Amino acid sequence: MNAHAHEKTLPFTRAQLEAIAATYPTPFYLYDEAAMRANVRALLQAFRWNPGFREYFAVKATPNPFMLKLLAAEGLGADCSSLPELVLAARAGLRGDDIMFTSNDTPPDEFRAARELGAIINLDDIGHIAYLEAAAGLPELLSFRYNPGAARPGNTIIGHPEEAKFGLTRAQLFEAYAQAQARGVRRFGLHAMVASNELDARYFSDTAAMLFALVGELHARLGIRCEFVNIGGGIGIPYRPEQRPVDLAQVSAGIRAAYNELIAARGLGPLALLMECGRVITGPYGYLVARVRHLKRGYKQFAGLDACMANLMRPAMYGAYHHITVLGKEHLPATERYDVTGSLCENNDKFAIDRQLPALAAGDLLVLHDAGAHGHAMGFNYNGKLRSAELLLRADGSVRCIRRAETIADYVATLPLDDLDGFMV
Ligand SMILES: *Cc1c(COP(=O)(O)O)cnc(C)c1O
Repeated sequence: MNAHAHEKTLPFTRAQLEAIAATYPTPFYLYDEAAMRANVRALLQAFRWNPGFREYFAVKATPNPFMLKLLAAEGLGADCSSLPELVLAARAGLRGDDIMFTSNDTPPDEFRAARELGAIINLDDIGHIAYLEAAAGLPELLSFRYNPGAARPGNTIIGHPEEAKFGLTRAQLFEAYAQAQARGVRRFGLHAMVASNELDARYFSDTAAMLFALVGELHARLGIRCEFVNIGGGIGIPYRPEQRPVDLAQVSAGIRAAYNELIAARGLGPLALLMECGRVITGPYGYLVARVRHLKRGYKQFAGLDACMANLMRPAMYGAYHHITVLGKEHLPATERYDVTGSLCENNDKFAIDRQLPALAAGDLLVLHDAGAHGHAMGFNYNGKLRSAELLLRADGSVRCIRRAETIADYVATLPLDDLDGFMV
């Protein structure tokens, strides 16, 4: 992990950003390729003890095929949950067991596409066995998503497992494997995802231990040997300067101890450990760059940016904290208090409320940190807002546009405007 993450440093200077902004007007997203690659290597290194270990990057976090191709070059697969995400993964060159398909409420054409790509299918419901069989036939290898219900506490973003729409109950799980076995499925995996943005390392070893114990029960009751457990995503990142990254060595050691006790010692190995993290892979290495457009003094002091919640919805949606650096004013005292807003006609269009910052001026460049996952991806067009460009800062310092900014032509592209003049009212 980036040892300096807690200092909220930037991998670029103000002069570099101004040069980029001369070609790509703000707002834009900028991703740091070198830091992402180093982070992925550290993750893989931490889990080297497990020969089958693989991370399937959750496409929804940063659904850009350039990103998927870059991560695939480091050995990552892709975790998809929809047909468009499957299309992106396939376009990035991923095939077969490079792709995990963890969907829910899935339509038949998406199961068909997943089968055609040879993706590993992870079913969300016992009823989906027959549904998948009718839609696309059953694969040789099948996985099920377990929802532990009240047995696990859950956390704030994902909620309590027993309230969650995801996964099979414990009783259904055994019935599902038996049904799949009876219908000819020969190879099995087991999945659970019960946390999101979790910073406590123990949470992940607890989830792994829970799944390892289930692997033992499935073997004892049904004679099934699971090939993998997928502990889902949900590893958190330190959005706040005072937070610390999850210690992957600690997560790994905890999971390894549980593996030795519950899998290796019982002769249930080898068992591959899989993850489908999004946030921890790209989150800290993506930045939303915007400019101060208007400063306003009402009952409070407002700094209006040229970005809005359509570019980064997390603060408005979850009250999430994103650290803000004012370029060129890093060393000035944070003497002013601002609500940092966008231009959308919703009062929750605020990137920060009561944030202490140095005195701002119109035109200042602001960087919103930790926007690399669930940032651009959650963008939308409400209020006629357009999504920004995504840029990749390459290791050699060059910048590559991996998604252009939307235009008004994109905004109206789905309207049958040719029919409008002839539309009689
Ligand atoms: C969202 C999601 C992930 C990724 O979650 P992160 O918090 O980004 O790690 C992984 N798996 C499933 C099924 C998801 O829905």
